[in-house]
Formats: sequence, C-alpha cells, structure tokens
Amino acid sequence: MKKKTAVYPGTFDPITFGHIDIVDRACYLFDHVIIAIAENPSKQPLFSVEERKDMIRESTRSIENVEVDAFEGLLVEYATLRNAVAIIRGLRAVTDFEYELQMALMNRNLRDKIATVFLMPHEEYIYLNSSIVKEVASFGEDVSRLVPEIVVRKLKETYSPGTHHSTRRL
Ligand code: ADP
Repeated sequence: MKKKTAVYPGTFDPITFGHIDIVDRACYLFDHVIIAIAENPSKQPLFSVEERKDMIRESTRSIENVEVDAFEGLLVEYATLRNAVAIIRGLRAVTDFEYELQMALMNRNLRDKIATVFLMPHEEYIYLNSSIVKEVASFGEDVSRLVPEIVVRKLKETYSPGTHHSTRRL
C-alpha cells in the first residue's frame, strides 16, 4: 500500500509542547509527517529558520516518521510537491476556528485532493502558543513546562540580561 504523507505547516517560532502534541497524534495517523516551517517574509521571527529546524529536530528525535523542512510560497504547492495527502492543523480554542476554516476551504478549492485534518491537543495545551512563551521567557520566567529543554536553553540565551527585545506586551 502507498505510504501516506502529511504536512504540518507553521511558524514554530519556537516549537512548543502544543505543537509536539499535534505531531505525536499526526504520526499515529500517517506514515510520514513533514513538519514544514513556513518562511513568511511579512513575519519577523525571533529565531532563524535554521535555529527553528534544529530545535524541532532535537525535540522530535524520538519519533521515527518525522521529517523537518522549510518552504516558501503556497502551502498546497509544497504539499503537492511532497506527495502529501493531508495538511495537519492544530485546533485550540474557538478563536482558531474561523481563520482555520477559511484557510482549509481555500486550500481545498486550490487542490481538492489534499484534505486538511484538524487535531485537538491535550487540554493542558489549549491556550499555549509561541508568542505567550516568548513573552513569559523575555521576563526571565521559567517556561520548562511549556517547551522542550532545547527551547528553554535557546530562549535563555536570547533573553539573557543585556539583550533587548521590543516584543513585550505583558
Ligand atoms: P501559525 O501557523 O499561525 O503561525 P504556529 O506556527 O504557532 O502558528 O502553529 C502551527 C500550527 O500548530 C497551527 O495549526 C496551530 O493552530 C497549531 N498549534 C500551535 N500551538 C498549538 C497548541 N498549543 N496546541 C495545538 N495546536 C497548536
């Protein structure tokens, strides 16, 4: 039987336990899961694509059928190129829903054969996102319950005393 590949796209700036929860679930459903970093020129990520790739690789090392990649341009183009049958998205609170529905329907209009599959994370991660992790870490608070060890380390390096970042909201 043909192997089924799914693409899990996102910014992953940085990867959190919420993302990993979704990856775990996707890997259970599909033979091959590609975590694909979307290189979006309009976003200004904290970490470079290479740094994000390293953090994702390190934190998904124990999962066999995962690949880490990056892409530019249209997601459905990339998914087609990689012979993916599905796009994975994580659904958290209702706030995700409208935007995700719009994206999923547009992607289906563009490529009818590629399905968007929504997966719900464990309740523990329902309000977790990368931005909140960065804000909390920027104040020197402990984020080890929210992100893998390598990310904790990278955030500490980035926000060590003396560095200034202007993304603070809290
Ligand atoms: P975006 O693609 O909006 O930049 P991310 O890169 O953070 O967002 O997330 C990529 C995907 O992972 C999205 O489908 C997002 O809904 C999902 N996701 C992010 N954080 C979580 C979480 N805590 N639980 C479940 N899914 C999540």
